[in-house]
Amino acid sequence: MDCPNCGTWNPDDKHVCWRCQTDLPIPEPKKERRNLKLFGLPVWAWVVVAILLLFPMLSQCAGPLLGQ
Ligand SMILES: [Zn+2]
Repeated sequence: MDCPNCGTWNPDDKHVCWRCQTDLPIPEPKKERRNLKLFGLPVWAWVVVAILLLFPMLSQCAGPLLGQ
């Protein structure tokens, strides 16, 4: 970010300007991550459930092929 005092660029992890020692404003972390929820469960949980359900089916389908 740029120093509000001298305009010098500072790395994001710096809290004080390396040039003029001015305290840098702390950048607000954007917590705009939408927690999409489906029937009370986050979407990733449904993905896990889907994989767990699909895996036995896929392994059954692939079983005869792999058995040859
Ligand atoms: Zn500065």
